[in-house]
Amino acid sequence: MIAAVLAAAAAALPLAGTTVALDPGHNGANGAHASQINREVVAGTGGFRKACDTTGTQTNDGRLPESRFTLDVARRLQRRLEALGARVVMTRTSDDGVGPCIDERAAIGNRAHADLALSIHADGGPPGGRGFHVIAPLARRAVAPQIVAPSLRFARILRARLEAIGLPRSTYLGGGTALVQRDDLGGLNLSRVPKAFVELGNMRNAADARLLERPAHRDRLALALARAVRRALRR
Ligand SMILES: [Zn+2]
Repeated sequence: MIAAVLAAAAAALPLAGTTVALDPGHNGANGAHASQINREVVAGTGGFRKACDTTGTQTNDGRLPESRFTLDVARRLQRRLEALGARVVMTRTSDDGVGPCIDERAAIGNRAHADLALSIHADGGPPGGRGFHVIAPLARRAVAPQIVAPSLRFARILRARLEAIGLPRSTYLGGGTALVQRDDLGGLNLSRVPKAFVELGNMRNAADARLLERPAHRDRLALALARAVRRALRR
C-alpha cells in the first residue's frame, strides 16, 4: 500500500519517465595524463578525428579548474532533476580521474536513450570578454543529423533560461547571440540524442571568475538549467 502510494507520487513528478544525460566537461587528472588525453578518437563522420579530451581551462589565479566547476554545477543540477522525477545519467562523478574521452561521453547519453543530453563547461576566452554562450550541433559531421533541430531548440531554451537569471551574453563570440553551432565537437557530432553545450562564463575574465567561484551562483545556474530541461521536455 505504502509502496503503491510512493510509486504514484513519483509518477506524478513533472520529469517522471524521462532520462537526462549530464556531462561535466573534462576531469581533474587529465593534465597529468597527456598521452591518454591527446590520443585521437573518432569525433564525427567523414573520418573526423580529435583528441580524447583536453585539460579544460581555469581561473587566472589557478585556484578553480574548469573540471571542478563543471562537476559541481552538474551535481547541483542532478539533484534538482532527480527531485523532479528524472533519471539522471552522469558521464563522471568524481574530479580526480582521467576522461572519459569525448566519444565515450556521447556514447553514455546514447546508451541511456536520454531524452536530452547537456555538456557543462566554462570557457577560457580573452580576459577582456565575458558572458555565457550555448553551442548546438551542425549536420555536417553529425552521426544523427535528425538531432540538429531539437538540439538547436534546446540550445535556445537554455539561452533564454540563463538570461532570465541575469547572466550576460558572451561579448567575445557569437555576435551578441550567445548561440553558436559547431561541427568540430565530438560530443555533439556523435550524439544520437538531442544535445547542447553550455559555456557558463569566461573563467579568464575576472568578473566572471568571481561569480563562477560562488556556490550561490552555481546553484542559480543549476536552477536555470533545470528550468530549461523541464521546458525542453515540455513538462
Ligand atoms: Zn571545457
